[in-house]
Amino acid sequence: MSEQHYDVIVIGGGPGGYVAAIRAAQLGMKTACIDATRGKADGKMALGGTCLNVGCIPSKALLDSSRQFHNLTHMFKDHGISADNAAIDVGTMIGRKDKIVKQFNGGVAQLFKANKVTAIHGKATLHKGRKVVVKGFDDSEQTLSATNVIIASGSIPIELPFAKFDGKHIVDNEGALDFDSVPQRFGVIGAGVIGLELGSVWKRLGADVTIIEALPDFLAAADADVAKTAAREFKKQGLDIKLGAKLSKAEVKGDEVHVTYSDAKGEQSAVFDKLLVSVGRRAYTQGLLADDAGVQLTDRSLIKVDDHCHTGVDGVWAIGDCVRGPMLAHKASEEGIAVAEMIAGLPGHIDFNTVPWVIYTEPEIAWVGRTEQQCKDEGIPYKTGSFPFAAIGRAVAMNETAGLVKVIAHAETDRILGMHLCGANVSELVHEGVVAMEFKGSAEDLARICHAHPTLSEAVHEAALAVDKRAIHKA
Ligand code: FAD
Repeated sequence: MSEQHYDVIVIGGGPGGYVAAIRAAQLGMKTACIDATRGKADGKMALGGTCLNVGCIPSKALLDSSRQFHNLTHMFKDHGISADNAAIDVGTMIGRKDKIVKQFNGGVAQLFKANKVTAIHGKATLHKGRKVVVKGFDDSEQTLSATNVIIASGSIPIELPFAKFDGKHIVDNEGALDFDSVPQRFGVIGAGVIGLELGSVWKRLGADVTIIEALPDFLAAADADVAKTAAREFKKQGLDIKLGAKLSKAEVKGDEVHVTYSDAKGEQSAVFDKLLVSVGRRAYTQGLLADDAGVQLTDRSLIKVDDHCHTGVDGVWAIGDCVRGPMLAHKASEEGIAVAEMIAGLPGHIDFNTVPWVIYTEPEIAWVGRTEQQCKDEGIPYKTGSFPFAAIGRAVAMNETAGLVKVIAHAETDRILGMHLCGANVSELVHEGVVAMEFKGSAEDLARICHAHPTLSEAVHEAALAVDKRAIHKA
């Protein structure tokens, strides 16, 4: 039997892969997308990758549930709303999260159908000449070929040899999204995005949360003013964040995890009911590349690509978490669209300088572009303007006064170099900076744009005005 031939085969059905497949099909190419993920409940194909199944979406579902509970128990009193004896049913909360995931698994499958993308469930291995062997979960095997292959195999959590995941007490993101009750003592290794978000979920539901971070600085990637503001707010919430603390051992004893770490004061120990290890992720390439595939890995085990996501092997591309650049769903999707367009002979485009970053804690943290430190390191002359949400009427009316907006602009040209935000809904507000930067806008441009009153976005307006020291509502 001759093998099925496609114009494009995409390996991986996450936000990189499924978006690439849809765009390729929209452009008239015969497209298949292969994914190995099995649904939690039924073991059937569950499209959407890490992002949909055990990442962005389920974490946001739990963040929302836990925020509702926290507001009910801590914030509503100020509004005159009493909620005595409020309780959380963790099973119901996890069930809601699973339902949302399932709904979107089905949504991606529907989009595939509508766009005539063939979905294939199984584990794919790429061979020489763009042949792809797919092993199904029913022991079936098929060989496909394609004119172009897009690898979008994603990433998996890094496991520490001295704190191995057991799925019950020492867990990765997947485990921490599926606890059946609130752990009384929840330890988190790593104060990155995942650690902070999942730490926040269980803290709001009543856990004592300790975050152990090896780096001496909190959120080193963020602008220092934003990191400082966020750290202050997290401290107020009772998140115990230990910086410069290096884990050396985590042992399960009975129903507890005994942890040893060292900090400036020497060796320390702690005991938790659950421990999340979230110290980063690495590209997932296990079983993906046959010896003759020709695709190279970098020394950090990422798939090697050029600026256009091409691997150097004729017709083989790679996108998303398995290649260089930020491990973010929207970056993966943008690369997917760009590659599909380049395959179709169109000018695919990704601007890595304007990829927004968001941490969905409370307050939210978001930024785009350069930090002040990066400007200093690069010797770029800059000026800044910032404005606190505490002076914004809408924020006060909402009881959301924490945080600020900071705009960094070039000292001579006034062009916006970065926007850094911490506060309510800044996951949305940051896009004002993204759009302004993408259009090569200046702080003056933002300052001259009429912003609706009363809105949180007035903080962006005022921060842009503050760049030239003319914020209106600043004493
Ligand atoms: P993935 O989503 O990892 O998808 C890869 C897919 O390929 C998987 O389904 C995998 O099974 C499949 N696959 C791999 N190898 C093969 C093979 N050989 N054969 C067949 N199938 C294969 N990012 C954000 O932008 N915003 C967020 O809020 C956010 N929150 C997150 C929260 C958590 C807890 C985690 C863990 C991550 C979060 N991320 C977030 C990161 C985001 O999930 C990833 O950046 C994104 O999923 C990467 O997309 P991808 O398509 O490259 O890979």
